[in-house]
Amino acid sequence: MTEAPQEKPAADTAPDDASAPHWAVRMNYRNRSASWLMVFGILALHFQQQSYGLWHWGLMALQFLVYPHLAYLRAHRSADPLAAELWNLRLDSFCFGIWAAVLGFPLWLSFVAIVCSCINLAAFAGARGLMQSLAATGAGILLTFTLGGAGPFAPDTSLAVSLLCIVAMASYLALFAQGVNSRTLALHETRLKLRQSESALQDKLQAIEALQEQLREQANRDPLTGLYNRRYLDDSLQRELDRCAREGLPLSLLLIDLDHFKQINDSHGHAAGDAVLYRVSALLLQHMRSSDICCRWGGEEFLLVLPGVGLDAAAERAELCRRVVAEQGSTETLPCAVTLSIGVATCAAEAGTAPAALIDAADRALYRAKAEGRDRVCVAAAQALQ
Ligand code: GH3
Ligand code: MG
Ligand code: MG
Repeated sequence: MTEAPQEKPAADTAPDDASAPHWAVRMNYRNRSASWLMVFGILALHFQQQSYGLWHWGLMALQFLVYPHLAYLRAHRSADPLAAELWNLRLDSFCFGIWAAVLGFPLWLSFVAIVCSCINLAAFAGARGLMQSLAATGAGILLTFTLGGAGPFAPDTSLAVSLLCIVAMASYLALFAQGVNSRTLALHETRLKLRQSESALQDKLQAIEALQEQLREQANRDPLTGLYNRRYLDDSLQRELDRCAREGLPLSLLLIDLDHFKQINDSHGHAAGDAVLYRVSALLLQHMRSSDICCRWGGEEFLLVLPGVGLDAAAERAELCRRVVAEQGSTETLPCAVTLSIGVATCAAEAGTAPAALIDAADRALYRAKAEGRDRVCVAAAQALQ
């Protein structure tokens, strides 16, 4: 008799030592040799009471004391130990069929042996295993009858043998249940660990995704002002131009340069210069719409993309920015007064304007603003884009 395998934790199915026996072979060996020893004891008592001959004793010793070890060796050395062990279980049923027939079907003995061998095979192979066990037992019985080895029908056993059978069967079933229980617990534990590592993995994945998002964001941002950087603008300006062209909308650029910024650095220090850049960028952001893109274009230059805004409105927005910054300087919310020169360029609602051409037009307008005395807004003529 052997114990059902149920499900085993991964560690058991994949032993570290490749030469170690398969878990099913190891488990069945332990259970088969122990429980068959018990059967040997009960049969010995039965044989004694029934005065069986020497060859019965010999065969019984061979079957119940020697065979479990041979079955183990066969399965252990097999290239497919699990399949070999299944054949061992079928052979067990076959042998029990022979023994039942040879002994004239002693009721308790036959019942215990056949039921337990059915349970063993069913535990490995389900209903199919149960049918295989019954078929193998039947084949054993049939063979015994065919060869004329069946004993006279003698279902009765002594009270002692019957009681021992009951005790043996009860012990076996208790052991079987205990085995199932320990394997169920191991399985439960494995599943729990699996769930835990799955949720830890999920957390890590979320952290990685958040980090990736943060990195993506950082890659697009200027660290000093927090505005978008030139890289982001290079990626998005063409996209915005296309979108506006599709929707029949104009798009304007404001190229903003701080006037005499070098002097601010020279007279107030680089840190004060940084503070001015930060403050100016915050003021620009305050006067942006959500659809606008505000980026730090270079050292002390900013580029504002205003999708859907025509030339006049863009010039007004530029003037607003210029005024707001100039007024902030005079109210001393900036470390020092600062003014802006702004070049404005607009492309009409039509496809085909290259981002570089539009930026170039805004740059030329900015150059004009500088040349005309700074602290002012200059607008690029429409033909500047041609
Ligand atoms: P203009 O009115 O003609 O634009 O004169 P300007 O002094 O503003 O222009 P110029 O190009 O001569 O000087 C720009 C200065 O901006 C030089 C550079 O040191 C300074 N600058 C560039 N990036 C930064 C920065 O991140 N922080 C600080 N504090 N200064 C910067
Ligand atoms: Mg400049
Ligand atoms: Mg400047």
